[in-house]
Amino acid sequence: MNAISYYRPRNLVEALKVIHDYAGRAKVIAGGTNVLPDIQAGKVKDCVLVDVTGLDELSGIRMEGDMVFLGSLTLISDLAASRTIREQANVLWQACQVFGDPLVRNRATIGGNLAYASPAADTAVPLLLLETTLIAESLAKGRREIPLTQFFRGPGETVLAPEELVTSLFFHSTSSYQGAYIKFGLRQAMVISVANCGVLLKGTDTFQAARVGFGALAPVPLRATQTEAFLCGQVPDESVFAKAAAIAQSELHPISDLRGSREYRVMLADALFKQAMRKALA
Ligand SMILES: Cc1cc2nc3c(=O)[nH]c(=O)nc-3n(C[C@H](O)[C@H](O)[C@H](O)COP(=O)(O)OP(=O)(O)OC[C@H]3O[C@@H](n4cnc5c(N)ncnc54)[C@H](O)[C@@H]3O)c2cc1C
Repeated sequence: MNAISYYRPRNLVEALKVIHDYAGRAKVIAGGTNVLPDIQAGKVKDCVLVDVTGLDELSGIRMEGDMVFLGSLTLISDLAASRTIREQANVLWQACQVFGDPLVRNRATIGGNLAYASPAADTAVPLLLLETTLIAESLAKGRREIPLTQFFRGPGETVLAPEELVTSLFFHSTSSYQGAYIKFGLRQAMVISVANCGVLLKGTDTFQAARVGFGALAPVPLRATQTEAFLCGQVPDESVFAKAAAIAQSELHPISDLRGSREYRVMLADALFKQAMRKALA
């Protein structure tokens, strides 16, 4: 028998208490676009669903100085329509344009996208490039900051304790950078990435700074730090892109699965990286 009960707390204090009281059985549900299919598939059962969508305080986009703050319940559709995100975090804005379809974007939250820890999650690479910090809260551990680089542990696994709720995230504006996010899927729309790549670059004659990230090309979304180090100080041209792409290959650990073979992903990484570099500089 599959026994699922349901709570919809009205504020953060109440939510943290319910999660604490049902420690081990509580299952947070935000937009439900991952949780509901998982319930249907029998992967989530015998739990207490804690629906956090009534926690208005966890929603919204705001700026303080050059910092951008996002509530964890902010919808992908709100990010996709936000002028602040387009101007201050354009690489994230690009990812939100190619995320699911309007129905999914109107339900899916940024916190849910990260907490589900899919290696292919569309907001993960852009948020890594933005050097994002998450805030997690629980009654047991209080409030703590987690750099996104330390958040993912493997497919479907994060450093979050079972009681912890992601409440918000923040990053610096990258309005002075040029960026691109490119995802490749097996059809034109409504698709999970076979592989994705994002870049954030500063400087046009020579690169003063370069951030490069890949998704679905390792057990977790990652920054290609050796590739970044190589790019800094280089003059942008096709031969530099080719050398950087070769370094990136050594930083990736693609697997074969139903969306594509390891070899196919290796070729995709090369093509997506070069395409992202050209697009960012265009
Ligand atoms: C048809 C379809 C298309 C999709 N297309 C894409 C796509 O193009 N790109 C993409 O990246 N994803 C896609 N997805 C996956 C999904 O929509 C996203 O991962 C989405 O962002 C999940 O957010 P949610 O609010 O719906 O999460 P939920 O399903 O509510 O939760 C997901 C997980 O996160 C946990 N969780 C949720 N919020 C929090 C929180 N604040 N703190 C701690 N844990 C939390 C839940 O317990 C659960 O484990 C698609 C899904 C469907 C069904």
